[in-house]
Amino acid sequence: MASDYIIEVKDLKKSYKNQEAVKGVSFGIRAGCCFGLLGPNGAGKTTTVEMMEDILEPSSGQVFYKGSPITRSFREEIGIQFQQTELLNFLTVEETLKTFAAFYKNSLRLDKISTLCMLDSIGKQYNNKISGGQRQRLLLGLALINNPDLVFMDEPTTGLDPQARQHVWEIIKGIKQEGKTIVLTTHYMEEAQILCDELAIMDTGRIIAKAGPDELIREHCQDCPPSEQNLETVFLKLTGRRLRE
Ligand code: ATP
Repeated sequence: MASDYIIEVKDLKKSYKNQEAVKGVSFGIRAGCCFGLLGPNGAGKTTTVEMMEDILEPSSGQVFYKGSPITRSFREEIGIQFQQTELLNFLTVEETLKTFAAFYKNSLRLDKISTLCMLDSIGKQYNNKISGGQRQRLLLGLALINNPDLVFMDEPTTGLDPQARQHVWEIIKGIKQEGKTIVLTTHYMEEAQILCDELAIMDTGRIIAKAGPDELIREHCQDCPPSEQNLETVFLKLTGRRLRE
């Protein structure tokens, strides 16, 4: 029987010299879902996502894409919005999209990406003259260039002002409406609550909760006052309030 999941991880583990960063995580993500991976600093989110992206080799465990173990072509099929991507200062936004599109046999139409990612009005601006919010919109556009079914987004709104953050949220909703599956890591609980259909919360290398945001809130905030019935409360209840070093 074909897998229900567009991507599935089975018992993924990653050890470094002194530490087991990911201690065996398993989950599947349905096509069209926005899946959020949450957790305190050092929980193992980036390590897990990088193994899913085929950037980091797992110590053990497997990643399946569309029902089969990932192959070399997987990296060309997915989209990744990295937090840190160096953009060439002497290129405009439009030229940057064209340059990246040239790397792929099949790219999504650039006018479509430009509209979806709210880049139409800044196409002629140089990369070093755009704001932080515009830069994040461009990085999302670049993640879509090969028309991927699956897009990874690593803290896409970190450091943005409230307006810029809301624009990015609108873009992510638009990407979802295109039928794409999204894997999102974020430290903003409001963002996860608004955008994600399903969440996994990690701590110390393990998944400690997995469900939709409403379900998690129902389960963990029953006795809380209405103002505290939110994902932030769930997160703090599950991961504790102590300062992480
Ligand atoms: P953050 O929210 O701060 O990005 P995270 O949940 O993404 O944290 P990871 O970056 O996956 O966490 O790190 C998990 C653990 O593995 C941490 O304790 C980190 O110090 C450790 N770690 C990550 N990369 C390496 C590495 N290359 N060598 C050794 N230890 C590492």
